[in-house]
Amino acid sequence: MRIPIVAGNWKMYKTIAEAVELTRGVRRAVADIKGVEVVLCPPFTALAAVREAIGPAKIGLGAQNMHFEEQGAFTGEISPLMLAELCQYVILGHSERRQYFGETDETVNKRLKAALAAKLKPILCVGEMLAEREAGVTRKVVQRQVEAALAGLTAEDMASLTIAYEPVWAIGTGRTATPEQAQEVQAFIRGLLGRAFGAGVAETTRIQYGGSVNAGNARALLSQPDIDGALVGGASLKTDEFARIVLAAGRPGV
Ligand code: PEP
Repeated sequence: MRIPIVAGNWKMYKTIAEAVELTRGVRRAVADIKGVEVVLCPPFTALAAVREAIGPAKIGLGAQNMHFEEQGAFTGEISPLMLAELCQYVILGHSERRQYFGETDETVNKRLKAALAAKLKPILCVGEMLAEREAGVTRKVVQRQVEAALAGLTAEDMASLTIAYEPVWAIGTGRTATPEQAQEVQAFIRGLLGRAFGAGVAETTRIQYGGSVNAGNARALLSQPDIDGALVGGASLKTDEFARIVLAAGRPGV
């Protein structure tokens, strides 16, 4: 049984003080929710303070990106070793990184390998653009992204990896994929994992949905068999909204 994982991607929002306040609120709001893993991904500048604000609570901490080199002359970049001192998770290949910062399948693959080498748990984002969905090539695009990102990984590596299916047209737009649309692609991704790594890996790898998830639509999305949680942007900036999504994901019996 896969334990769902709900991660809040705070993007480029929140000063340190605001991040601490939000963390304290989330910590209180999700304290009694069972059967779900919660991860907060603040900006780099707030990682240390959020780590402290999380304290002993069972909430994971993640970064939103990282470079693939361990160190070097890469002004402005953050390395896997630096993150490993602060957090457990790292989001990689988010569509905003691919769209605005030139990340490619190849560099996402390098980042993934570097994150795993540093014992970080990657959240790999994949998803098609609107034009690609309309052209009927969603599966082709997602397959290319998944296979390229996971090239060279072992079944053992897959144990610490989460995949987030995030249709680009649903991110920050208020236009969510229907539960059926998300389920269809996520089952397809699970099939790809089975082909590449075997049935065991396919069965145990968590695949989140991301794209305008909110308290109102979370339950329907999360009740789909291949949706194992959510990567939440906008709604993760509001304590109550985020807590309601976490509640919808929780499987108390698990
Ligand atoms: C995201 O940033 O990964 C995301 C899904 O954003 P939103 O929930 O705002 O669509």
